[in-house]
Amino acid sequence: MNPGEVTLDDLPIRDDLRGKSPYGAPQIDVPVRLNTNENPHPPSPALVADLAEAVGRVAGELNRYPDRDAVELRAALAAYLGHGLTTERVWAANGSNEIIQQILQAFGGHGRSALGFEPSYSMHPIITTGTSTEWIHAAREEDFSLDPGKVVAAIEEHRPDLVFVASPNNPTGTAQPLGTIEEILAAAPGMVVVDEAYAEFAREGTPSALTLLPRHPRLIVTRTMSKAFAMAGTRLGYLAAHPAVVEALLLVRLPYHLSTLTQTAALVALRHRAELLGTVDELRRERDATVGWLRSKGLAVADSDANFVLFGRFPDRRAVWEGLLARGVLIREVGPPEWLRVSIGTGEEMAAFRAALEGVL
Ligand SMILES: *Cc1c(COP(=O)(O)O)cnc(C)c1O
Repeated sequence: MNPGEVTLDDLPIRDDLRGKSPYGAPQIDVPVRLNTNENPHPPSPALVADLAEAVGRVAGELNRYPDRDAVELRAALAAYLGHGLTTERVWAANGSNEIIQQILQAFGGHGRSALGFEPSYSMHPIITTGTSTEWIHAAREEDFSLDPGKVVAAIEEHRPDLVFVASPNNPTGTAQPLGTIEEILAAAPGMVVVDEAYAEFAREGTPSALTLLPRHPRLIVTRTMSKAFAMAGTRLGYLAAHPAVVEALLLVRLPYHLSTLTQTAALVALRHRAELLGTVDELRRERDATVGWLRSKGLAVADSDANFVLFGRFPDRRAVWEGLLARGVLIREVGPPEWLRVSIGTGEEMAAFRAALEGVL
């Protein structure tokens, strides 16, 4: 065959990857980008200067491999998380997506399965199948909550090696009561991963699954600097778990997976956390105002503990998404049919979103 005509289908790719589509939130350059749940506030000049200085200091050592175990960074992350966590209970990688991949490499794989409750984060099934683990999904309730009885029944039916629960959930914004997580832990025969990518945005009094760690060695809580921490470009995710879980991940991680530059940037970000997390309260207020405004327009809106809002219902959601895009506002066509998700931006960006949506409706 003419090499110029070869397509993916002609390659000897794994059978279980045939016909799959890659993760694909569109990256379109428009004035108002509210589609990937980033924090809209760029780092301050003071942070940028500190980062440049820190990178300058380590640049002279880039002929050497980084600290393979990222000990200084893990200690700093443990101190940030609190809950009595220590270095050996924390692990870090290139985004929580790599954390999830390492978890699946260690605890999933061929002949094993992972269970999740949809609609939820699309990367859970994508990374699951990417590691040759079988993906099993159960449904959330009409209001996107979890019914503990049904959740336990699904676990008992499928006996999965891993259970994924995003809390607050993406794309719905729904946080889970800890009681439900505890019931899952009691029923699950394997590892339970609570994905807390949006934990910092939860409403007052929403407890973290970190509080359950001392009693549950099969629990893993994952976090990220991509959302509240306003550092999506740094690619830094992390987890807290029993030290034996971290030992398991050391068996599958690539040596030196976390570059010197990434470790340096994450340490600087942690030093500046007061600034970076200082925008969370404003974003929560903006979120609650957005929920209220959408409801005042007669739309259906899911309660949100995150920095985005799922709203609908639109028989032709594509037309609404395109109408907004034509007005310079990019949101996300994701989740159940008829629903759309808008990330919370600055006050100005949300005003542009409201104006655009009024124009479309
Ligand atoms: C955004 C998101 C992540 C973050 O992924 P990173 O790789 O850390 O950027 C993880 N889980 C959920 C549910 C998310 O929405």
